[in-house]
Amino acid sequence: MAGNHTWCFHRSDLTTDEMSLLRDLVSHRWNSYFVAFPQHQRHFTSDYMAIESQDFAKKLMAMYCDSISLNHAIEVNKETGKLTLNGNVIEADLTIDARGWCNEKISAQRAYQKFVGWEVEFSRDIDNSSVFLMDARVEQFDGYRFLYTLPYSQRRFLVEDTYYSNDGEINFAAIEKRLRKYIETNYDKDFKILRKEFGSLPLELGEPVTQFANSSSRYIAIGTQAGMAHPTTGYSLPSLLQQLSALGLTEKNFDILKAAQRNFNHLAVVKNQQSFFRLLNRMLFLASQPEQRVQIMDRFYTLPEPLIQNFYRGKLSSLEKFKILALKPPVPLFKAMRCLSERTQLHYG
Ligand SMILES: Cc1cc2nc3c(=O)[nH]c(=O)nc-3n(C[C@H](O)[C@H](O)[C@H](O)COP(=O)(O)OP(=O)(O)OC[C@H]3O[C@@H](n4cnc5c(N)ncnc54)[C@H](O)[C@@H]3O)c2cc1C
Repeated sequence: MAGNHTWCFHRSDLTTDEMSLLRDLVSHRWNSYFVAFPQHQRHFTSDYMAIESQDFAKKLMAMYCDSISLNHAIEVNKETGKLTLNGNVIEADLTIDARGWCNEKISAQRAYQKFVGWEVEFSRDIDNSSVFLMDARVEQFDGYRFLYTLPYSQRRFLVEDTYYSNDGEINFAAIEKRLRKYIETNYDKDFKILRKEFGSLPLELGEPVTQFANSSSRYIAIGTQAGMAHPTTGYSLPSLLQQLSALGLTEKNFDILKAAQRNFNHLAVVKNQQSFFRLLNRMLFLASQPEQRVQIMDRFYTLPEPLIQNFYRGKLSSLEKFKILALKPPVPLFKAMRCLSERTQLHYG
């Protein structure tokens, strides 16, 4: 249950009500973090949190073990909301479908945020125990590369080698070699690997093949099944919580009959918000050369902290969007202009 993940988010991604759904589930919390680029380093003093999937599974089983049924494949009729489990049809007032990434909700043109992470235990205490959301002071390969470090304790760290890449293929041998070198150079040579995780998250460049739809009042797709992921980071936890709040799940009198309509209204808002992030993706992946991406990210992190927080929340004001575009990414003007339309068929680099 819950797979083999670490889910992270900024406290500022969520409202107090949204955070209340997660309060008992957070495994680690830090009150500051760094980003580091060849040209500059920056320290942010805001909260960042992580949920370890093993921890999440244990807590969920303890809270809801009577309502959880494991290892059953469920079929869902998205028109009617009817479920089929082991050949038996189940009628429900409301079906909430959270079966993960669904291809039809991702645009045909996509790039990837891919990563390999090791949770390691050092044989001695490590002095340098800062959180690094991005350490891009490393050799660049395969697009934009950075290292991500979360210290869980003085000895237990999660370190991930991440790439903003044109393709989703993970070359484990090469990435793990670089990851080991980074850990040995920046922390210590003497460690054991406790756990590995990896992912290749799709980042949309154009409109999804199938637009969001909600044809039944008895069926709601949530999370990545509904296309609820940040187009530029591939992260879905904040958008999921925002969706649950929009459905009314954070309210005392959750109204099943109104949930689908509320969801429909929420999807219309999200659809609008996501198009700007897809434009940024096209600038990053289509207009720029892969080796220029680090400069684009470097410039982005010079922007004011509230703007960066709103970027991660997926909710930018018009002025903030303007400020991002005014950074003038180091890309040829002609290519940048061609990226403006969602429908333009473009090629990498
Ligand atoms: C290694 C990794 C790390 C990530 N880290 C972050 C992060 O830090 N922050 C963040 O916001 N996002 C992160 N993401 C991205 C995204 O948030 C996760 O992929 C997230 O788990 C998606 O949530 P979900 O509930 O939509 O789908 P999933 O977590 O994929 O859950 C879908 C569930 O449905 C089950 N299922 C599928 N089909 C059926 C069926 N027919 N019948 C019954 N069950 C079914 C699956 O077994 C699975 O348990 C990460 C992704 C990966 C892979």
